Amino acid sequence: MGEISTQAATAMHDGLGRRIDYVRLSLTDRCDMRCRYCMAEEMVFLPRSEVLSLEEIAELARRFVARGVTRIRLTGGEPLARRGAVDVAHEIGGLIGHGLDELTLTTNATRLAEHADGLWDAGIRRINVSLDSLDPERFRYVTRQGDLARVLGGIEAARARGFAIKINMVALKGLNDDEIVPMLRWCGERGFGLSLIETMPLGQIEDDRADRFYPLTEAKARIERKYLLVSSTQSTGGPARYWHVPDLGVTLGLISPLTQNFCDSCNRIRVSASGQLFMCLGHEDNVDLRAALRSGDDAALDHAIDRALRLKPARHDFDLSTPATARHMSVTGG
Ligand code: SAM
Ligand code: SF4
Repeated sequence: MGEISTQAATAMHDGLGRRIDYVRLSLTDRCDMRCRYCMAEEMVFLPRSEVLSLEEIAELARRFVARGVTRIRLTGGEPLARRGAVDVAHEIGGLIGHGLDELTLTTNATRLAEHADGLWDAGIRRINVSLDSLDPERFRYVTRQGDLARVLGGIEAARARGFAIKINMVALKGLNDDEIVPMLRWCGERGFGLSLIETMPLGQIEDDRADRFYPLTEAKARIERKYLLVSSTQSTGGPARYWHVPDLGVTLGLISPLTQNFCDSCNRIRVSASGQLFMCLGHEDNVDLRAALRSGDDAALDHAIDRALRLKPARHDFDLSTPATARHMSVTGG
């Protein structure tokens, strides 16, 4: 990887003055699962020729860090389904302490056991794992092909290695809403955090998302019937609001883009595996960084990034009756 320019490059602000210091990089749009709220059963994935090479992804990370990005999350699709994912994590992890404060990962954990050591050596210390049910049959139903035992094995391996783990659970009415309190306890027993997520209307799927929508206001009320929730001031500049559950020692995140909008403090942008820079999860606007990246000219890349920053909208306008975007969440990784 090239040296980070010592020349002070301009920090990134969008047209509304929001400082952008957090980037999510998708390593692939492919996945070994087909979660019903995320993907259709039959998906058309990017041709491999359009996907950025691992070197290009690392180069992009380097440029973002030079532009003031302090946190990078690797995501997908399933990031660990990309061959060389751990190598690119090592490359990007080399920026920690040189502008980058933290490198994190979001994964479905199917390959976490085999990669836990490599990811640790890359400098990753916090991992978010998707887990929507602790019941093997339900888990298979929601993911269409997931093997719960394997996922739990991956989570356990990461825990044993010392990673801080947060579970991401999409709340689905009639599917797993009755597991919210048990999941909270399960996380408490293991020292994990839990983030509950409202299903978002991104991309066409077979199910009607409105049928499965479970407002987190209800989830919160459900939890509060059993446990005290203490409001936390913790913020990641994202859509989550945090609560402590003192009885269980769990930090609970509620990601409720439908029932509560927190776009005012949004600090993040997302790059697809093909190098499109998306400014908002809920909008199609994007700038293609691939050509600029391939030109090898930092100024051209900066110019493309600056053009994108001006496109960042004030907020998303999710409406469950119609997908906000044609692309699925798996293109930009949440
Ligand atoms: N494959 C990895 C995983 O599942 O953790 C990383 C990518 S996945 C797209 C990132 C997160 O987005 C997961 O926690 C998943 O549950 C969530 N997600 C996917 N589609 C969603 C949707 N339509 N609404 C809300 N969350 C969604
Ligand atoms: Fe794959 Fe993650 Fe989407 Fe599930 S949520 S289909 S694991 S990308």
